[in-house]
Amino acid sequence: MADPELVDVVVVGLGVGGEEVAGRLAEAGLSVVGVERDLVGGECPYWGCVPSKMMIRAANAIAEARRVDGLAGSAEVRPDWAPVARRIREEATDTWDDTVAVQRFTGKGGRFVRGAARLDGPGRVRVGERVFQARHGIVLGTGTRPSVPPVDGLADTPYWTNRQAIEVEELPESLLVLGGGAIGLELAQVFARFGVRVTVVEALDRVLAVEEPEASEVAAAALRADGVEIHTGVRAERVSHDGQGFTLRGAGGAEFTADRLLVVTGRRAHLDELGLDTVGVDAGRRYLTVDDRLHVTEGIWAVGDVTGEGAFTHVAMYQAGIVVADVLDHARRADAGADPSGTASATGGAAGSGAGGSARAVPRADYRALPRVTFTDPEVGAVGLTEHQARERGVNVQVGLARLPSSARGWIHKAGNEGFVKLVADADEGVLIGATSVGPAGGEVLSALVVAVHAAVPLARLRQMIYAYPTFHRAIEDALRDMS
Ligand SMILES: Cc1cc2nc3c(=O)[nH]c(=O)nc-3n(C[C@H](O)[C@H](O)[C@H](O)COP(=O)(O)OP(=O)(O)OC[C@H]3O[C@@H](n4cnc5c(N)ncnc54)[C@H](O)[C@@H]3O)c2cc1C
Repeated sequence: MADPELVDVVVVGLGVGGEEVAGRLAEAGLSVVGVERDLVGGECPYWGCVPSKMMIRAANAIAEARRVDGLAGSAEVRPDWAPVARRIREEATDTWDDTVAVQRFTGKGGRFVRGAARLDGPGRVRVGERVFQARHGIVLGTGTRPSVPPVDGLADTPYWTNRQAIEVEELPESLLVLGGGAIGLELAQVFARFGVRVTVVEALDRVLAVEEPEASEVAAAALRADGVEIHTGVRAERVSHDGQGFTLRGAGGAEFTADRLLVVTGRRAHLDELGLDTVGVDAGRRYLTVDDRLHVTEGIWAVGDVTGEGAFTHVAMYQAGIVVADVLDHARRADAGADPSGTASATGGAAGSGAGGSARAVPRADYRALPRVTFTDPEVGAVGLTEHQARERGVNVQVGLARLPSSARGWIHKAGNEGFVKLVADADEGVLIGATSVGPAGGEVLSALVVAVHAAVPLARLRQMIYAYPTFHRAIEDALRDMS
């Protein structure tokens, strides 16, 4: 076996989070090895956010064109998937080729290694026969893969995950979507708008079950209006494929058939593949447990979906900023001969003001105002706690809700104006702790609510704000009024 190669940092997995960390550390002058077994950039640009939002953009254009009738004359729409597939292939993914992304990383001074990496004892990472010894740290950004439920027969069928759904060149006539979460609903609506007969089967009693019930209702109604059949409270019991199509049998005997089956029932990290036992970390958990500086254990950080703090690109990017600051802080301390663990500075000790730099400059992760958007039409944006979560935590909850169709802008907008703003406040503190914004621009309206939750803006100040007329976000003012 070759001697280990000494480097400053090894980043395992160059998805959104890992690529950001590796690139910025390399730009800062550290010797960084980035290891990726698949495509640099990860799920988001190739099979996730970017291509799915291109699909949604196209599907929404169709929906808007269909709204011309009654508003602006008449329009004939003939959906065609070819330009969408071509755009994903050519503009988004370079036909699933990461040459540009690799060059982006190496252009910053990083060293790229293609392969599957695992930990190989403290400070060491193995990729095949090569072993790297990291002086300052290892960052794990290995993400998640689809979690496929143990439904009888399913594993033997040619079901789709998000990857096949994104790569599809020719649409099927009919599609079963197992899972009514954000990804399931986004893709179901897209395919339905392109003429596919779509059926969503969800085990829980409502779609988008993590969001407010009012959001589930609006989203379900919108999809039904697009022709999507939605069956909630149906647990899949058996799946079969006869060479032509799929049959899904639910508990209670209901049967659903379609040409294709898309399984979008969540995602899971594969910690068992990472050699965590060689550094004394439990691989039996669902996600890597991290502290508020994304530390897993001495010398190891994690970033992105693998931390289980929210499976969003913006969470991975946010965490990456903290990891970069903390690794650089550790490197400075180590180079200055100070306490590299940062313990002394974190507790206000002398090392914090020493030559190694101050750990107080390293931000701590705070997910109180974590935003999330489901890009259905209408969009479902949410931040912080739902009303139910707040009540479960024993908060003295105050709620306000305003429906968009009865707002000035919603009334003007007419076709496609479904939505609402719902506010959840801590009445004792007089601040918002959660909010939901559903509507044609639900994800954009959300930004004001994120600021309010993040900065704990007093309700009294929010009530004194001037809200531009006639915007969708004026519904925030209406919801505040509904609260008092
Ligand atoms: C259909 C879909 C739509 C989405 N839409 C949105 C959206 O609109 N907005 C949003 O914020 N998020 C969205 N997401 C989620 C987003 O894609 C993820 O949150 C994001 O990709 C997480 O980045 P990551 O770096 O943690 O992991 P990933 O992007 O999964 O990257 C991890 C990388 O690590 C590599 N890897 C794993 N193990 C090893 C190993 N042992 N050795 C070497 N390499 C390894 C993998 O090959 C992968 O490239 C969507 C996801 C999907 C599936």
